[in-house]
Parts: sequence; structure tokens; C-alpha cells
Amino acid sequence: MTLTKTTNKSFCFHCKSPVMPKVVFYHNEPDASICPHCNAKLKTFKNSAKLEDRLLVKIVAFSIVLYLIALAIKL
Ligand SMILES: [Zn+2]
Repeated sequence: MTLTKTTNKSFCFHCKSPVMPKVVFYHNEPDASICPHCNAKLKTFKNSAKLEDRLLVKIVAFSIVLYLIALAIKL
């Protein structure tokens, strides 16, 4: 019975107790989940910024490709 109850819980790597991670918000966006027992950071949610960076890289790469195609057509 206890095993089924812990399916939604994760184990804190720091204090090794089953925890319901507490989500910390920063600028209205989830920043990290922390252990309510020892305040260890379990997960960081910095993926959104990284995703934006990746999207920007893709846009830049795409415009470079378009520029090269435009040059090729001119030649
Ligand atoms: Zn902990």
C-alpha cells in the first residue's frame, strides 16, 4: 500500500526521504523544485530560456541558409 502511495512522490537525493517537491516561482515562472525537508534543489526549470536560445539559433541559421540560397540564385 505504501508503494502505490509513493508513485507521485520522488526521493530527495540529499536527505533520501520520499518527498513531494515544492515548486519555487521566480518572476511568475517555475524556477526550481525543492525538497520541503532539507531545501535541496531537486530540479531546475531553466529549460524555457534554453529553448528560446535554441529557437533563436534556428532562426539565425535559417536566415543564413536563405541568404546563401539568394546568393546562389543571383549567381
Ligand atoms: Zn531533502
